[in-house]
Amino acid sequence: MTDPMLDVFFHPDVLSMRVPDGLFEKPASPLLAHQMPFAEGPERIANIRAVLERAPSAHRFRWHEGRPATDAEITRFHTPEYLRMLEDADATGRWLTDTTCLPAGGMRAVRAGAGTVMAALEAILSGQTRLAYALVRPPGHHAARDVADGYCFLNGVAMAAEHARDAGCARVAVVDWDVHHGNGTQAGFYARDDVLTISVHMNHGAWSPDSHPQTGEVDETGTGAGRGYNLNLPLPFGSGDAATVALIRQIVLPALRRFAPNLIIVANGQDASQFDPNGRQLLSMAGFHAMAALLAEVADATAHGLLIAQEGGYNPAYTGFCAYATALGFLRAPLDQPDPLAYYPEDAAAAAQAVAALIARHPLLDEGGQWRPEGA
Ligand SMILES: [Zn+2]
Repeated sequence: MTDPMLDVFFHPDVLSMRVPDGLFEKPASPLLAHQMPFAEGPERIANIRAVLERAPSAHRFRWHEGRPATDAEITRFHTPEYLRMLEDADATGRWLTDTTCLPAGGMRAVRAGAGTVMAALEAILSGQTRLAYALVRPPGHHAARDVADGYCFLNGVAMAAEHARDAGCARVAVVDWDVHHGNGTQAGFYARDDVLTISVHMNHGAWSPDSHPQTGEVDETGTGAGRGYNLNLPLPFGSGDAATVALIRQIVLPALRRFAPNLIIVANGQDASQFDPNGRQLLSMAGFHAMAALLAEVADATAHGLLIAQEGGYNPAYTGFCAYATALGFLRAPLDQPDPLAYYPEDAAAAAQAVAALIARHPLLDEGGQWRPEGA
């Protein structure tokens, strides 16, 4: 039997967008002698692609060309007014929030990012693959139906969830392990029980009353029919491999088994890595590898498979190594590349305590960490 492959979808247009240099993720500062590259740049994705192409298991990745998203695909999740606003902003370039800048012409990359997620979804729905990875930017999970936020304009994961439902998937689960709360996806499906949204993130709270009022806390559990179907799993700052992997094993896997989704979509960020400028978590390649292997195990039991969409990861070099480790985990292949940066030890006692404390205070989890939507 030949080894399973990971089908990777990419479109060169995703590299075409660049926000001008400034104070890391803000406009230029007059106090600086040298401005910094904007945090969300093409290098991060170009480096993931390079590592996937050059690393020892490069033969396990099958490359496919993505495509731009159509208006119909976009407005299946986003409002037409919001899409018009983005197209307007695209003509001249505009800062939409404190940290979210659409540069002039940026919609070319934005549409290619979201459309390439749709192309990867189609490959799963048509039975061509069970494991598809959309290597895209800009990220999407902070974008709500009508709000841009946190470098995100179109929420490819949410668009894919809606289309999977339309295509006959009765239940879709989104597992978001970007280090930031997946607020746009949460908001989009907050009143729905057909799309289970799970977000594993650092405990950063709300960051803007306009673009990100959601706290990501455990008490945001859904509303109406969706009560119990939004599972926020915030971990304390400084949580590393041990806490995050334990949380996936102890809470996320049983929840997915209970929900029995026809499709699992992973909002796959690597900004929980220990060298990320935008995260305060301490994951290494080994942690990402273990998390992905656990997800792949559950996805094997679902009808259609696993759709992986790239989200954050802002150390332009280490993100490539961590994304490679994640990809090998999804393939359930051994890690065959040394971690160039994993030299900090972990606090094992703090890791065990972090998961136990989260379970103890979570309204949707019983004492064993089992998801109980009826508890909402
Ligand atoms: Zn993030």
